[in-house]
Amino acid sequence: SIVNKDVMFYKKVFASDIDVTIKKRVAYISHLLKNALAERRFEVYYQPIYEISEERIIGAEALIRMRDDEGNFVSPEEFIPISEKTGDILRIGQFVFESVCKTLASINLNEYGIKKIDINLSVAQCMQDILSKQILEIRAKNQIPASIINLEITETAAAHTPDILLANMKKLADEGIELSLDDYGSGYSNMNYLLTLPFKMVKIDKNIVWTAFENVKANIALASTIKMINNLGMTVLAEGVETEEQVNWLKSLGCHYLQGFYFAEALPKDEFLKKMKDEQLRIKKLRESKN
Ligand code: C2E
Ligand code: MG
Ligand code: MG
Repeated sequence: SIVNKDVMFYKKVFASDIDVTIKKRVAYISHLLKNALAERRFEVYYQPIYEISEERIIGAEALIRMRDDEGNFVSPEEFIPISEKTGDILRIGQFVFESVCKTLASINLNEYGIKKIDINLSVAQCMQDILSKQILEIRAKNQIPASIINLEITETAAAHTPDILLANMKKLADEGIELSLDDYGSGYSNMNYLLTLPFKMVKIDKNIVWTAFENVKANIALASTIKMINNLGMTVLAEGVETEEQVNWLKSLGCHYLQGFYFAEALPKDEFLKKMKDEQLRIKKLRESKN
């Protein structure tokens, strides 16, 4: 009927409008990415990580930030997948790792109480034979202790290139660099990765944390997952911790590390370093008052 045809027509127009909008946005972001390094669009932020047994912030996860032409942030959730397609991710990854190493090399780590910094690796980076060599070279050049560096790998990356990834991971682990499985529970949660790859830590995806906090069955599943990971000899970090109630609950489940807005969001370098300094002062005062 005519009515049906009209509906179809409008549906088509509407769908293609969305298509055009998405394509324009992707083109704009690809354009930003192209000269992003030269245009200084990137900056590395640091989201504090709390170690439960130490009762303090012991480091951070490095998270990339990119600004558009108006100076507003574009979410990494949006531009990282695009940069994987354009290939820019390889330069981004190198930029992040170099920035972190430069920052760490510029300070006295003990004075700041920094024990570890997490850095995300993308799928495309993990597919590179030379990944481990590049990372080890940058680390050596900046004289950063390997034990500070913790590389995060997602399940997706593990699934893409098991052989190359495993070779890279072995070389990195042999040098004392730690490896974490990121966003655990968000994908297929293939247990095989936990059993076969040399991970030291598992980061529970924030959506899993939030669901388990609200839902009895999901809570049971998370509790036994954490137990299993601990029994396999790995530590557990919970992401997306936003309330004190969640802190206490996750402590009771046997997590080692917590990360989330309850402690702090990702901070510019200087703010993060100031936070670490303040934290050291707080601990010193606490110790003095106990003596
Ligand atoms: P991710 O590695 O799982 O990083 C954690 C994300 O969760 C960050 O988002 C962080 O800001 C956010 N987050 C942390 N705590 C909370 C919380 O309590 N509540 C809420 N609502 N969010 C929280 P961000 O910075 O937007 O990064 C998103 C994703 O982009 C990252 O997820 C990671 O997969 C990717 N990414 C970020 N930086 C890099 C990078 O340098 N290299 C690569 N390859 N990927 C990166
Ligand atoms: Mg991560
Ligand atoms: Mg994560």
